[in-house]
Amino acid sequence: MIQALGASDGIAIGKAFVLPHWEWELPDQRLDVTDLAKEFDRLYEGVRMSKTEIAQMKTELDEVVGSEESSIFDAHIAILEDPVFMNEIQGIIQRQYKVAEVAVKEAIDHFVTMFDLLDDEYMKERAVDIKDVGNRLLKHLLGAPEIALPEDTQPFVLVVRELSPSQLVHLKPELVLGIVTMVGSPSSHAAIMARAFGIPMVMGVEGKLSVAIETGDLLIVDGGVGLLHIDPKPDTVSRYTVIRRQQHAAREQLQSIAQLPALTPDGVGLTLAANISSVKELHAALLNGADGVGLFRTEFLYMDRDYFPTEEEQLAVYRSVVEKLNGKALIIRTLDIGGDKHLDYNEMREEDNPFLGFRAIRFSLARKDLFKIQLRAILRASAYGDIQVMYPLITSIEEYREANEVLAVARKELDEQGVPYRADLPVGVMIEVPAAVAIADLLAEEVSFFSIGTNDLIQFTLAVDRMNEQISHLYEPYHPAVLRMLRTVVNAARKQGIPVNICGELAGDIRALPIWLGLGIDELSLSAQAILPIKENMLRTKASDSRLLLEELFSCRTTADIRSKVEQFYAERVLLRKFPAK
Ligand code: PEP
Ligand code: MG
Repeated sequence: MIQALGASDGIAIGKAFVLPHWEWELPDQRLDVTDLAKEFDRLYEGVRMSKTEIAQMKTELDEVVGSEESSIFDAHIAILEDPVFMNEIQGIIQRQYKVAEVAVKEAIDHFVTMFDLLDDEYMKERAVDIKDVGNRLLKHLLGAPEIALPEDTQPFVLVVRELSPSQLVHLKPELVLGIVTMVGSPSSHAAIMARAFGIPMVMGVEGKLSVAIETGDLLIVDGGVGLLHIDPKPDTVSRYTVIRRQQHAAREQLQSIAQLPALTPDGVGLTLAANISSVKELHAALLNGADGVGLFRTEFLYMDRDYFPTEEEQLAVYRSVVEKLNGKALIIRTLDIGGDKHLDYNEMREEDNPFLGFRAIRFSLARKDLFKIQLRAILRASAYGDIQVMYPLITSIEEYREANEVLAVARKELDEQGVPYRADLPVGVMIEVPAAVAIADLLAEEVSFFSIGTNDLIQFTLAVDRMNEQISHLYEPYHPAVLRMLRTVVNAARKQGIPVNICGELAGDIRALPIWLGLGIDELSLSAQAILPIKENMLRTKASDSRLLLEELFSCRTTADIRSKVEQFYAERVLLRKFPAK
C-alpha cells in the first residue's frame, strides 16, 4: 500500500494501463563502414514496427475517441514515408557513421527547429508530429518494451508519469476507472478535470514504489485519502468493493437534495454554480442541481482541436451551453492558456516559470486578433441567455482597461453589422494574484463583479507552485495570509456593492463553507461533484454561527489554530457525514 496525494475522491478497482514515457538515453557509439548496411536494416525494421504500431493505435483509438481525433495517426504514418525525413536520417548514418538512434534524434531536432522558426501555425504543428513519430521510432530502435492501448478497450486505471490537461481531454472518461500519476499535485488542471469527471485519482507516487507498476497489474485507487494498492489481496479487494458500493449509494442519496434551494437553517442563500470546461461537463453539473455556471474554462475548447477555434465554432459552444442553462447565468472566462495548459498547435517558448509567464490575459492582450474573435463569439452568444464575461490573471487596472478596449471594438463591429448582443454584458475580473487583491478597492470601482480564483491566489500568496508535489504540503488554503486576502477582496467589493464569487477548488472544500458564509460570499462555483456535498452541509450550517467562527479565525496566528477551530466548529455544530482528506 502506498500513501500518495489524494487528488480526486472515489475508489477505482481495475487493471493498470501504463502510458509510455518517452525520454531516451542514446548510445554513444560510432559505426564502422562495414556496419552501415546492418544499421540501415535496423532503421527500416524500426520504421516498419512503428508503422504497424501506429496503425494499430489508430484502430483502437477510433473506438475510444472517434475517427476525427485518431486521424492524427495518418499524418504520423505519412512522416515515416516522407523521403525528405528519411533521407536526412540515412544521410547522417552514411556520412557521419552515427548509429540509427542518434541519426533519428538529430533529424528530429533538425526538422523541429526548422519548422519552429517558421511563422506558420501549420508547420509548427508538423514539428509536434515529427517529435511524436521520432520518439516512437526511437522507442523501437532502443528496444523499449511494447506498449499499446488496452486491446479489449475495457475500462482501465491509467498510470502515467505526468498527465497534461490536453491528454485528459482526449480520453473517454467512461473508460478511465482511475488515474495514478508519478508526479503532479492535486491543484493541477489535470486533477481538476479528473474531479469534474468524477474519476478517482492519486498523484505523486514517484519514489514510493518498490517495483514499477506494469500494464495489467491490479490496482486499487482510493482518491479520497490518496492510497494506492498494487496487486492487493482478495480480502482487500472485497473490502474496497463494499466501500465503493457504499460511496455510490451515498452519492445517490445526496441526489434527493439536488433541486432544493441552497439555504442555511437561518435563511441565508448562496448561489451554487458549476465550473465546467466543456459541454460534456455541463450535463453532470445540471444533474447535481447547479444554479448556473460560474466558471467556463474556455481554454479546453482551444485544446480540443489542432487550430484556433473560429468565431462560429465558439459561438456554437457558448450558445449551446447558455441555452441548456435555460435562464441561469453563464460566466465565460476568456482564454487562460499557459501555465500547465498548452496548445499543441501554438508552440510557446519554454519558460522557467510558466505560471508566472506568458499566460491568460497576457496572451490575449498580445494576440488581440484571437482575443477579439473570442469576445465577438461571447457577445453574440449573449443574445441567447444570461452571459457574463471575466478576464483571468488581471494584475492591474491598465490590463482590465486594455481588455475592455478590445471588447469595445468587438461591440462596435457587431453594431455596424447589426448583430444583436447583450448591451449591459457584465464584465468581471478574476482575483488570483496578490496585486489584484492589493488594488481590489480600485478594481471594484470599474468592474461588474469579482471571482476569486483561489487555486492561483494561494500559489502566488504563499509562493508555492501548485504543480510541485514536493511542496504540496505548503500549499495551505487555511494560512492566515489567505484568509486576510479574502477579507480584503470582500471588503472592497462590499464598498462598491459588487458581487464576489469563489471559483477555485477551495470553494468545494466543506471545511471552508463557514468561511464563505461568514464573509458573505455571493456565489460558489464548484466542480459538479462538489455541489451536493456543499449543499448538504449548507442545509445544516447557520450563517450566524459562521460569522462568529470567522471572527475567531481572524484572531488565529497559525494555520494549525485555524484548522483546529474549523474542525471543532464542525464537531460541535454540524453533524458532518463526511470529512474528506485535504
Ligand atoms: C483559480 O486559479 O483558482 C482558477 C479558478 O483558475 P484556474 O484553476 O483555471 O487557473
Ligand atoms: Mg487561475
